[in-house]
Amino acid sequence: MDHPKPLSAQITPRFAGPTTFYRLPGTSEIGDLDAPIVGVPYDSGASFRVGARFGPRSIREASSLLRPYNRILEIDPYEAMRIDDTGDLTVSPYDPMAALTTIDEYFRPIFAAGQNPLSFGGDHSITLPILRAAAATHGPIAMIQFDSHLDTWSTYFGSRYTHGSFAIRAIEEGLIDPAASTQVGIRGMLFGEDDIERSRNWGLRAVLAEELAPTLAAEIALERAGKRPIYVTFDIDGVDPAFAPGTGTPEVGGPTSLQATMFLQALGGAQIIGADVVEVAPAYDSAGITSLLAARLGLELLGLIAIARGQHE
Ligand code: MN
Ligand code: MN
Repeated sequence: MDHPKPLSAQITPRFAGPTTFYRLPGTSEIGDLDAPIVGVPYDSGASFRVGARFGPRSIREASSLLRPYNRILEIDPYEAMRIDDTGDLTVSPYDPMAALTTIDEYFRPIFAAGQNPLSFGGDHSITLPILRAAAATHGPIAMIQFDSHLDTWSTYFGSRYTHGSFAIRAIEEGLIDPAASTQVGIRGMLFGEDDIERSRNWGLRAVLAEELAPTLAAEIALERAGKRPIYVTFDIDGVDPAFAPGTGTPEVGGPTSLQATMFLQALGGAQIIGADVVEVAPAYDSAGITSLLAARLGLELLGLIAIARGQHE
């Protein structure tokens, strides 16, 4: 079976043609793919600035700039795997429980078939149902979360399913193994001094922004993951708002786009079973730089997934 490939920039200019992720054909049967790319335009879990529902669209557009070969990971993911844009999930913007169910049901057969999805959000609450689907096949997962926030706050206005609560729900439901999971880039003001303490008590390890050396953080995360399958969830607000202003809850004083990219590249060879990039809200972006970064990080993640699949074969 031929691999779906991005349109050639030698034949169709990058600013022309259909607006799919990475200019892929967008016509493949999902069952034929190794790594389906899925848009999840849901942001009803956001606690501050909304608009991440427009993330997938904007990231598709920005992704048209990117070339295929990753010189650090030494891989062309489109050669290594069958990848295509499988479109957007149609999730209810009004009914969070229905939205979470839709997402969970969509991803369950994907993980069950041994496929490795890359998802673009949407706010961070979409990661909970994806983890439910992943854990149904893989058991408790090692989660690597790149974020400025812990996302372990229990409720907002009584709601248990917000973008600031997905990580604590994932622990409570046994979807991730906290002792194998790592949160990277944590910073910003907290509600109280016990916020990080609580995270530590659950066995999570937070690599704070102040201690973030990209390769060291990756080393810590991989050592903690051990032999568990790894899911990488990348909240774009983990990057400094100077580099990623287009997001709902920005936190100053964070890593650069280069540090974020280097962190992912240092995960090369890890057993990554799926990934997402969330919280891109184009309305707050400048010159499209946040969407472009998200598209680039997505391509790094596809490279990591391709390497992981290659080790299985
Ligand atoms: Mn988050
Ligand atoms: Mn965040």
